[in-house]
This record gives sequence, structure tokens and C-alpha cells, in this order.
Amino acid sequence: MNENSYTRRDFLKTAGVGAAGLTIGLGALGGAGRVSAAPIHQGSAIIQADPINHGGPVIISGGKVIQPQREIRVMRETDVLVVGGGTAGVIAAISAARTGADVTLVERYGCFGGLWTGGLVLIVLSTHARVGGKLTKCVRGIGDEMLQRHLKIPGGIINQAPGKSNPTSDPEVTKYLMAEMVREAGVHVVLHSWVTNAIMDKGTVRGVLLESKSGPMAIKAKVVIDASGDGDVFGAAGAENVRHTHRIGLVHRLGGVNTVDRAKAKKAGVKLPRFGAATPIPGVTWVNMQGPKADCLDVEALSKIEMDDRAAIWKRMAEIHKVPGCEKVFVLDTASQLGIRTSRTLVGTQEITLKNAKARKTYDDVVGVGGSYSLTGGAPCSVPYGSLLPAKIDNLLAAGRCVAADNQMLNYTRLIAPCMVTGHAAGAAAAVAVADKTSPRKVNIAKVQALLKKQGAHLG
Ligand SMILES: Cc1cc2nc3c(=O)[nH]c(=O)nc-3n(C[C@H](O)[C@H](O)[C@H](O)COP(=O)(O)OP(=O)(O)OC[C@H]3O[C@@H](n4cnc5c(N)ncnc54)[C@H](O)[C@@H]3O)c2cc1C
Repeated sequence: MNENSYTRRDFLKTAGVGAAGLTIGLGALGGAGRVSAAPIHQGSAIIQADPINHGGPVIISGGKVIQPQREIRVMRETDVLVVGGGTAGVIAAISAARTGADVTLVERYGCFGGLWTGGLVLIVLSTHARVGGKLTKCVRGIGDEMLQRHLKIPGGIINQAPGKSNPTSDPEVTKYLMAEMVREAGVHVVLHSWVTNAIMDKGTVRGVLLESKSGPMAIKAKVVIDASGDGDVFGAAGAENVRHTHRIGLVHRLGGVNTVDRAKAKKAGVKLPRFGAATPIPGVTWVNMQGPKADCLDVEALSKIEMDDRAAIWKRMAEIHKVPGCEKVFVLDTASQLGIRTSRTLVGTQEITLKNAKARKTYDDVVGVGGSYSLTGGAPCSVPYGSLLPAKIDNLLAAGRCVAADNQMLNYTRLIAPCMVTGHAAGAAAAVAVADKTSPRKVNIAKVQALLKKQGAHLG
């Protein structure tokens, strides 16, 4: 191996997770978990399956593409439907399911975590605040339970300890733990399914439409939680919302950072480049890329940025390799999910504002408290229930980065720890509404607060 040939494969080898290691280690599991070198070219099994029901073809009429009226197959009826399996959605689903409600969680990709995992955003900001000069944990309950469980897996998390805030997690560990917690809570999981529309009964949401390899399907629900990050459900339902542009970056990880020969760079009189922030894997950093500002719901813009950001990463990699002592640094991976900071935010019955946060305003309908952030002047931030509740549309709640916040505070509410808080709040509120056979608008807030406390949440 020469100096320049330290590759991903070498990295995996030194980390002890080479292909052979996987074969031996996991082969013992058998069945679904088996990873082995057994031959796979033995021919497929031909099955007699029902044809996929697309409800008939889309047609061309007078040069226009027309989707004719069609009946959509109902896949499920559920109490609480959570759209989006990111931080907020997973915690919302777990909270509601732990009350015994029937909960369905729909996610467009094959794993949970959204930007926290697929987006490779690894530092969980705003978990704590200084209260009376003392570092105090704000994010408690299910979010904290999730972070604590990372400690049980070697390489799962760093900076998760008393006296420390804002831990950094490993994305694969997070994906696994989220799946385990969702499974343990008894949530019905629908992966690989993209929610495309809301089912409306006048101003009330009754469920969603989704597209997948199985064709278009509907899920009916008593309460829907929009945790899609982009407000796809409340956007489709016609709920008032605000559209934003923001910087879009392609987060990535660098490996081999622990091979950097600082003395060599110093001798050459060259300044070392920045490699990003530490992760639980030795020698691996994550790079938080800012990227250009764009409309995060414009697919043409997203396509261009994905291409341009990737080119920029490799251009920078080439620059890094020119620095003496940095020859063995490599791009370990790029995020499978583009780094969308914000797109739509809800117009709620209340809005989280920077002014109120700085004034440390508290609310009668408080459903959670997020930790501090530089933007808020170091104050913890109370979350009112009204920031999850659409101003007009019924049977719908928002959670995560799309909740109602002014265009400064959305840079707070979109952080991972505050998304844990709003996810937990939405899940608990939906569960209480279902149990009491009422709507999120009429739900008994005292009962929601009692459930949140029972589930360990901090309400201030
Ligand atoms: C580049 C970048 C850097 C950041 N840095 C930090 C940081 O350092 N620390 C920090 O705490 N936060 C940071 N953030 C913010 C934070 O990562 C996210 O805002 C947070 O993870 C959002 O969580 P969420 O659950 O609200 O949404 P998301 O993580 O976006 O989850 C939404 C989920 O819904 C799914 N989904 C979307 N639409 C549909 C649909 N129509 N149908 C079905 N599923 C759908 C998505 O696949 C996804 O899994 C950063 C964000 C970016 C982009």
C-alpha cells in the first residue's frame, strides 16, 4: 500500500468491518439477518401476485395530461397517522403508540432519522440550557431515552454524559435504535412510500394518499401528524403556510483524518484545511456544508444543487490532497438526503417568535421546552401547543422543522433537539385526541401535559 492508496476498503479493514467480518459475524444469525457468500444465481421464484392497481392509466386529452377520476385502494385505517420518519415523526409515533393507540408511520425512504441520519447531520444541538448558571437537561422523555440508548452500543455516541450537552451520534446506530424503539412501541411501519396528497372532507383531514411500488394507496386516519419536514401534508390540505428559501448543502463525512501529518504541513508552511467536526468513529469527521440558497421545494433547483454540491465536495477533496500531510484523507460518504434546512412552515394558532424566546415567555399550553441556542441568547425555549396546530384545517398537527415559527426562530425549531420536543408533543396530543374521541383543536391540554409528563417530558 503506498501513501496515496489508503482507500475506503482499507478504512473498513482497519475498523474491523470488512466484508469477510460481516459474512462470519452475521451469517450466524441466519434468515433475514444473514449476510453470506451463498450463491444467489439459482433463478427467481415466480409468484402469482395480484396486478398493481393504478386505477387505470393517465390519459392525454386535447394535448393535456389528465388523471381520470379513480377509486384508490385503502391500505389501512388507523388512529394516528404520522407522515415522515425523521426525528420528529419517529418520536411522535412512539409517544402515541405507547398509549395503546393504533399508529401508522409512513416514510419515503427505507430507514428512519431523516436529516439526522440520511442527511448525516450528526450533532444534536440544543439539548440543554443554563438555568440559574447550571447546565440543565431540557430534552427529556423519549428523545433523551433515544440518546441514552446510544450509550449501550459501542461507537454509538460522543458527548452524551452528565455535564455535557449537544452529543454527536453515529447515523447507523441511530437508524437501528429508531427502528427498534418503533418496533417495541408496536407502530405499524410503511416504508418506501411517498405521501402525495391529503384526503379532505371539507376542512378536515381524513388521511393521505401515498405512492409506492405497490401503486397508489390511501390510509385513513383519525388524526394525522405532518412530520415530513416540508409540510407536505398541510401544504396539500390547504392549510395556511409560509414558503422559505434557505441554504441547501450536501453533508458528507471524511475518513482518514487521524492520518494527517501535521508536522509535514507545518514544515511546508501550509495551513491545514478544516476537516469538520468529530464523530464517534475515530478519524472520521462530518462536514456541515452550507451550499447555495434556493427554494427547497423546487425539484429542478434540488437536482442542480445535488450535482453542484457533489462536484464541490470532490473539488475540495482534490485541494485537501494537495496539502502536504493530508494525502490519506478520503470522502467516506455523502448524505443520501440533501440538506434541506427549511421549506414550508405552518401558520399555527400561535407562532414561536424570537422576541418571545428571548423574553423567556412561558405559555399556559406549553407542551415542551427546548434547550438553549446562540440565537435565543442562551435561553431555553418554551413550545406552545398552538405552534403545532393549523390555524384552520382540522384533524392535523405539525411536528419538527415545519412547525409555526417566525423566520428567525425557524433556525431554532429546526434543530434536532427541538424537533424531538415538538415530535413528542404532537404524538401525545394526537393520542389524547383519539382516546377522547375529539380533534386536536378541541383536545384537553391539561391531559396532553399530564401524558407528556408521564412519558418523562420536561415542560418547564
Ligand atoms: C445542512 C444541515 C445542517 C444542520 N446542522 C444541524 C446541527 O448541527 N445540529 C442540529 O441539531 N440540527 C442541524 N440541522 C437541522 C436538523 O438536522 C433538521 O432540521 C432536523 O433533523 C429535522 O427533523 P424533522 O424530523 O423535522 O425532519 P426531517 O429530518 O427532514 O424528517 C422528515 C422525514 O419525512 C420524510 N418525508 C418527507 N416528505 C415525505 C413524504 N411526502 N412522504 C413520506 N415521507 C416523507 C423524509 O424522508 C424524512 O425522513 C441541520 C440541517 C441541515 C440541512
